[in-house]
Amino acid sequence: MSAPWRRWRRRPWSTADAILCCALGLGLAAAFVGPAAKDAATLHRPSSLPSRARGGDSDSQSSLALSVLIAGAGPSGLLLAHRLLSAGASVHLVEGRRDPRTDKSLEGRAYALGLGIRGRTAIRTAGEKLWASIKPSGFASERFKLHFSPTFAIDLRTPEDNNGLEPSLLIYQSDLCSAMLDELEASFSGSGRLQISFETRLKSADPVSGSAVLQSGEELEELPPVDVIAGCDGVNSAVRASIASACPGFKAEQTPLPGSLKVLRFPQMPEKLDPTAVHAIPGKSGTSAFVEPTARGGCALINWRDAKDPETGPSLGDLVDPTEAQEALEAYFPLIADALDAESAKQFVAQKASRASIVKCNTYSFGRAVLLGDAAHSTGGASGQGCNSALQDSVVLAELLQKEVGTGRDVEEALALYSKKQVPEGHALLDLSLGPGETAGPVRRALYGATSFVGTLLSKLGLGEPPLQTVLTTSLTSFSEIRRDRDLYFGAFPSQAEFESEIERATA
Ligand SMILES: Cc1cc2nc3c(=O)[nH]c(=O)nc-3n(C[C@H](O)[C@H](O)[C@H](O)COP(=O)(O)OP(=O)(O)OC[C@H]3O[C@@H](n4cnc5c(N)ncnc54)[C@H](O)[C@@H]3O)c2cc1C
Repeated sequence: MSAPWRRWRRRPWSTADAILCCALGLGLAAAFVGPAAKDAATLHRPSSLPSRARGGDSDSQSSLALSVLIAGAGPSGLLLAHRLLSAGASVHLVEGRRDPRTDKSLEGRAYALGLGIRGRTAIRTAGEKLWASIKPSGFASERFKLHFSPTFAIDLRTPEDNNGLEPSLLIYQSDLCSAMLDELEASFSGSGRLQISFETRLKSADPVSGSAVLQSGEELEELPPVDVIAGCDGVNSAVRASIASACPGFKAEQTPLPGSLKVLRFPQMPEKLDPTAVHAIPGKSGTSAFVEPTARGGCALINWRDAKDPETGPSLGDLVDPTEAQEALEAYFPLIADALDAESAKQFVAQKASRASIVKCNTYSFGRAVLLGDAAHSTGGASGQGCNSALQDSVVLAELLQKEVGTGRDVEEALALYSKKQVPEGHALLDLSLGPGETAGPVRRALYGATSFVGTLLSKLGLGEPPLQTVLTTSLTSFSEIRRDRDLYFGAFPSQAEFESEIERATA
């Protein structure tokens, strides 16, 4: 009897599959629960920062007198470090995993992400030099194709939709972080205000006193209080957990999404695909592939639903034999079959599957602790804005601290202002990424689905506004404004005053 996936090849792709892929797969702004680094050897020994350090080196143009502990050297933590160090603050950056520049396993961060106008603009606020150091590690693309079958695809985004803007930069998360780390060290390692500790986790923190405990291997280190503890530590944030224990009014939802993901890396883009475009390819039985060109060949994010389909056999995640995995992937995704080989199949089975989660919080700050990026608002899919919005958070926080604390305001008040500005953005992005929820009711949901689909087709004829994905990627309009424009489908979005009073109530 033939293996079950051989039968899948014969099934046509349905429009429903294509729309589902479009809804769930575009950009994959998901945060996936990645495995922790195994080797706990410390590369740089942490030591404590002076509290209320005065940034006094002669090079700094300003002197933001703050000591900041940043948990997580992902995109948000690294950009925040750049911005605060430029402003004169002292920064201790702790990262649970190994240095991405020397870590060859790259488990959990070997995926490509797309930096649109939001991310690029945010990075550029730290200086054109930083952007120039990142750009060569990425691949510029302004094409997005949605495939309905192996022979039929539509262009969801073309250079014409870009209105003369710089194209999106497709870049491995590890390459982005490596370039930002190189530049951080080149600019600030001589300042005496930067300390980086890899393979060191923030274990716990006290948002009220500003103290924290770090863990490196078996070793624990208690740090004296700092002015700000920045939670840039992703979906499973320890800083968020510390706020939850200290603040009775804090509400945080972390919801795992159904489905799993693995990443395939190819030396070249598959021959049947436009090598300059991003491709959303629905497969059979709820699978989808999201294939992107990068500066180092192609990257495919393979998604599948975990539930076993009795008709189709084991899910992709259950396959342990590389030959079987290669056959299954070829059958699911004929368009990428030529790029699959024994090596990529081995890579696939050796990898631990990741799962996306949604994170939603009612405040992003309490006391001296503050949340950014995925730690505050992971969207778990769809909009390709996770990294872009994380970078925006870093800019907003750094600028508020510089402006408010620089002019004598209390740090905690400045953090509360950040929360009031960014919570509406995080909630709006979540709505836009997931579409109208149960509370919107079936009529609005159906209307939204139909309008999005028809709107996308009309926009291809030059009628109406571009698809939401294009608006998010190519405009700097705030997420709340884009969300409020869609009240008809989602229901009313809370006003700024309502957000503010909820934050005040939660943190009182
Ligand atoms: C497959 C995939 C595709 C994606 N595609 C896109 C895209 O196209 N566009 C886009 O904008 N976004 C995309 N995203 C989302 C994007 O990667 C995230 O939103 C973004 O990385 C969030 O940045 P961050 O700095 O907040 O968190 P992270 O990137 O998650 O970084 C958090 C860091 O904190 C470290 N850490 C965790 N806990 C601790 C601790 N206790 N102590 C110290 N360190 C800790 C982690 O090791 C990690 O390095 C994608 C995500 C995935 C998984």
